[in-house]
Amino acid sequence: MPTFVYMTRCDGCGHCVDICPSDIMHIDPVYRRAVNIEPNFCWECYSCVKACPQHAIDVRGYADFAPLGHSVRVLREEEKGTISWKLKFRDGREKEFVSPIRTTPWGSIKSPSDYEVPSIEALNDQELAHEPEALNIAALPGPPPPMKNKKRKKKS
Ligand code: SF4
Ligand code: SF4
Repeated sequence: MPTFVYMTRCDGCGHCVDICPSDIMHIDPVYRRAVNIEPNFCWECYSCVKACPQHAIDVRGYADFAPLGHSVRVLREEEKGTISWKLKFRDGREKEFVSPIRTTPWGSIKSPSDYEVPSIEALNDQELAHEPEALNIAALPGPPPPMKNKKRKKKS
């Protein structure tokens, strides 16, 4: 479900622009309000929805789950630590979902560079994430050397 902005609620603070990993939240140069310039490229991460202090960002539900005439409202309440989703179907039915914004205290997540330098096994592991500067190393280990061809013994 890609996002869109209610421009009448938006005050142009730019939090959504700063947080969007897809770089598709822009401030309209004329109206000075945020706009999702490319909904097709929306990751649907909802970082912008959670970050918006004005509750100005909403989402468009896909037709198979919230058909024509629907609405999907998102409400982030930091003081309660919750994010709520309210789905309204065109026949009047409503569904509400409430989730915690996060399950760990604010500010408790360490940056990758705050951890010790990974072991050589970890650096060669398929699950390694992050660039060298975040791992506090100069460069990642190179690929293993190619295996040498063994010479076949000639049959006598
Ligand atoms: S949901 Fe994520 S990718 Fe989509 S506009 Fe918001 S921050 Fe960007
Ligand atoms: S975070 Fe909300 S209020 Fe701020 S620019 Fe984005 S949509 Fe507008």
